[in-house]
Amino acid sequence: MAKKQEEEPVEVRLPPVTLIPMGSPDKQQDQANLLAAKQSPAFPIANGLLAHCLSRRGERLMLDYAAQGVAVRFEIDGVWMNGDPMDRQSGDAALAVYKKITNLNVQDRRSRQDGKFGAEFGGGKYIADFTSQGVKTGERVVITFRPKKPKFHKIEELGMRDKMRQRFKEQIDADTGFIVISAPAGGGLSTTWNMALETADRFMRDFVATEDKDHKEDEVINVNPQYYNRAAGESPADVLPKMILKEPDVLVVPELTNAETVQMLCEQVNKFNKLAITKVNAKEAAEALLKIFAYKGPAAELAKAVTAVLNVRLIRRLCDQCKQPFQPPPQLLQKLGIPAGRVQVLYQEYKPPPPEQLIDEKGNPIIIPVCQKCGGVKYVGRIGLFELLVIDDQIRAALTNQPNLETIKRVAKASGHRTIQEEGILQVAQGVTSINELQRVLKQQ
Ligand SMILES: [Zn+2]
Repeated sequence: MAKKQEEEPVEVRLPPVTLIPMGSPDKQQDQANLLAAKQSPAFPIANGLLAHCLSRRGERLMLDYAAQGVAVRFEIDGVWMNGDPMDRQSGDAALAVYKKITNLNVQDRRSRQDGKFGAEFGGGKYIADFTSQGVKTGERVVITFRPKKPKFHKIEELGMRDKMRQRFKEQIDADTGFIVISAPAGGGLSTTWNMALETADRFMRDFVATEDKDHKEDEVINVNPQYYNRAAGESPADVLPKMILKEPDVLVVPELTNAETVQMLCEQVNKFNKLAITKVNAKEAAEALLKIFAYKGPAAELAKAVTAVLNVRLIRRLCDQCKQPFQPPPQLLQKLGIPAGRVQVLYQEYKPPPPEQLIDEKGNPIIIPVCQKCGGVKYVGRIGLFELLVIDDQIRAALTNQPNLETIKRVAKASGHRTIQEEGILQVAQGVTSINELQRVLKQQ
């Protein structure tokens, strides 16, 4: 009896998600869609699946429809996890519910359909972007939950250490310079960009930004954007001259786009002592520098202008409720470069006891309840591993004479620069994350 109850899926005990129908230009139609969806016998299944995803802090839910059933996956902190598969009949009925509340065609299982609906759960409000697309094996559905309020407000909340934050603040609050923010594709660039701008003193200085009108950045107080039309062949260089006339202190250009833009910014930094800030997708700071150079702007001017690169890589935090301490063997500490005697324990992700220990004296199976905090994911949330590369004369010389990854990294290291890997090992030593997770993150392309 007790066993039966414990085996019930988590979603049975979850409160329902409040669904807000969207997609119809007509509010009444939206309400009629919601009513129809609620009348479906599959409504509790459809709703429970969303609740299950959101309760585990899932950012995306993916459903793969095939003849034999429906595979369910959740993306949590950037990692896909398998959920319990559904039988095809329940899966089809749940999909009809989602399509109904997004005002899409329930019958169409082939064309690509996009829509959205609102969702409220556990005090959080989300916009859920819905996409369905017929594929060879059946149909693929992805629901992406976007929180209405951003998750982080300050860069230290993303895990930046105090000392580095002070160093970064000196750079971004400097009168003049050229600052690059970078992260791997899909790995926290927009969050770090917003945090970097939030960190900058924007009250004593005039900030102007130029953005593609089709790719607007999140709003940051006291940063005033002017738009160019990239689809029509324009670049920041088309609007910068007009912006420069107003003599702003800081030029924010999220995408450099071309050599002309790089040249204009270098001129503003080197001749007129302005500050320029940009961003680029890159795995590490040295690569970000090379990508900025790849726009083929004036290399010597750019090497002179650039002052700092802040690179980030997101790493999952071990769940502090279920993480397991272990005594690291000396060889492991040596491999990680942690001095002997510095740490007594490291932490690893939860591993259940071996099956032979999961039987009581009477031979009955022992059921270990799922961790309440992480729901069995073993990790909760992410922090950034930050790499702040402050450009000195040695790096400038390398950029001018030997602009390649290995040389820049070697010169940076000689100047005492700490890499993402070293930052990661610090977090492992402090028990924030695991060696496994660090290895996973460092392997990311
Ligand atoms: Zn846990």
